[in-house]
Amino acid sequence: MEFRQTGNQWVVRLDRGERLVETLHRFLAEHHITGGYVWGIGSITDVELGYYDVNAKEYLRRQFADVYELLSLQGNITVVEGKPFLHAHVLLSGGDYGAFGGHLFEARVRATVEAYLQPWELEIGRALNEDVGLKLWQFQAE
Ligand code: ZN
Repeated sequence: MEFRQTGNQWVVRLDRGERLVETLHRFLAEHHITGGYVWGIGSITDVELGYYDVNAKEYLRRQFADVYELLSLQGNITVVEGKPFLHAHVLLSGGDYGAFGGHLFEARVRATVEAYLQPWELEIGRALNEDVGLKLWQFQAE
């Protein structure tokens, strides 16, 4: 991973073999980024995606072992249990050019991932919503 700051934004290059979510979490913690937006493109492999079954209140998980174009990674950063937490979704395509995607649990960088982070001057927490079974955004008192 290599990165540069421009204004209050960050441009991050992830390299082959790095774990995408784990590496971004480490970057966020090291730079004390507690809120913001993440965008990225690249090439990834060994992808674990989730589909949230709202009725069952659980994620269905699936592994994808091939190499995929990372057409779009989009996510947001909040704070969970005192640490930056990245919630990211991805859109991928394989050799058949068909697109698919889901909630990103983890992936390994294959060629590279080019990411952009826009921190917010706002800290957002998460609290469990019993109705949907997920920790949803919780705005802090001003
Ligand atoms: Zn999600």
